Amino acid sequence: MYHSVGDCSDDPYRITVSPRRLDRQLGWLRRRGLRGVSMADLLAARSRGEGRGLVGLTFDDGYADFVDHALPVLRRHGCGATLFVLPGRLDGVNAWDPIGPRKQLLGKRGIRVAAATEGIEIGSHGLTHVDLTKADDRTLRAEVAGSRAVLSELVGAPVQGFCYPYGTVDQRAVRTVRDAGYAYACAVDLGPLSGPYALPRVHVGERDTSWRLHLKHRLHRLRRRPVEGV
Ligand SMILES: [Zn+2]
Repeated sequence: MYHSVGDCSDDPYRITVSPRRLDRQLGWLRRRGLRGVSMADLLAARSRGEGRGLVGLTFDDGYADFVDHALPVLRRHGCGATLFVLPGRLDGVNAWDPIGPRKQLLGKRGIRVAAATEGIEIGSHGLTHVDLTKADDRTLRAEVAGSRAVLSELVGAPVQGFCYPYGTVDQRAVRTVRDAGYAYACAVDLGPLSGPYALPRVHVGERDTSWRLHLKHRLHRLRRRPVEGV
């Protein structure tokens, strides 16, 4: 789970990796015979009984730096990824973060550039980045189904993936995501809802050097065990 790729000198939420660090991390994967792919490609491979050696890479929030900094590095390593964007904040900024630097978000053009790149999947992060467990029914539907409609139109294909803002998820949110026609959804933590509509992810940041990645890789396998087969 990545967010922004760029200058991480002022980064209170630790959501930014430098392009150089991302380059090293993807190199680390490749040296181990692993390859980063979009969630859609990962899940499709798994449903065919394949997918060993594939690692789902996700970038949340749809920062404009994805196109400038992440795409070239991904391409250099032959990796794909899923980019979860906010169609209610096109060309906006991360106004939901109370502190820290304002970061530019992608607009229509940038999202289409990413969508047209081989191996890159566009998913929805909702419309505007609200905590869905605290949203009323109407807002929840707009954020989940509304964002899928807008994005599918924008990229010219049905959007398959959803990602819960803040990683917060409950039964009602899961049901709404499934009913809206998504094929899967990403959460963060492992929990009772873990499964195709609340896939756990591991945060990867600027401090994740080779040996930390190695540890996270091993620990994630352990923490995944209870949901295997879901
Ligand atoms: Zn987010």
